[in-house]
Amino acid sequence: MKDFITVAIDGPAAAGKSTIAKKVAKILNFTYLDTGAMYRAVTYAVEKAGLNPEIEEESVKVLPGMTIDLKEDGTVLCNGEDVTKVIREPVVSSKVSYIAAMKPIRLALVDMQRALAAAKNVILDGRDIGTYVLPNADVKIFQTASVETRAKRRYDENLEKGIATTLEEIEESVRKRDYIDSHRDFAPLREAEDAVHLDTSNLNIDESVEAVLKIIVEKTGIEVPCH
Ligand code: C5P
Repeated sequence: MKDFITVAIDGPAAAGKSTIAKKVAKILNFTYLDTGAMYRAVTYAVEKAGLNPEIEEESVKVLPGMTIDLKEDGTVLCNGEDVTKVIREPVVSSKVSYIAAMKPIRLALVDMQRALAAAKNVILDGRDIGTYVLPNADVKIFQTASVETRAKRRYDENLEKGIATTLEEIEESVRKRDYIDSHRDFAPLREAEDAVHLDTSNLNIDESVEAVLKIIVEKTGIEVPCH
């Protein structure tokens, strides 16, 4: 048996990866790393600095000295500022895929992700975890759902958080992000050859959590605590 278990959950936008990964991490007592929050934090920093998030030469200026802290309770700090809420706003969501396509930014964040994931039981969710960040992950899951289901879920989530958007806007934004994320040159969104494909279109949250736990058990043989 290995000392530490690494679980990678990749998939398109708003597939429910972070909701499920958080719950699974809690049940298994693993560390959860939301890598999307890191790309969102950089996007926020770029916009806050008045730089253009579609231009690489401008955006990379925020990198030197930048800090991102992912707290256990889900709080995200960027250069010490609590950005947990603002990074979910449409102004960040609509630009984050441009930032995530920039190689110097990816390299900086991937270094941080590998360091944060080292020597512990960990679940990471993102786009390139199984293909690029941790190609030797013990468990790789590609979690998806139909674009309509994903847009509706994100719409409901936003409603709860008080973020005003229409269903049409969200579907458009999800499609656009998926397109940019899967067509970028460096570490694009794609399913790893050795990933288990999990379509959650017809699963609720609890059923998705159980499906992910089952895959982890099958791949690693660990025991799941009562939950
Ligand atoms: O997971 P989330 O939707 O918050 O991610 C926001 C964006 O960050 C994605 O649309 C993608 O552009 C980028 N991302 C990435 N690689 C990751 C995680 C997120 O490119 N590992």
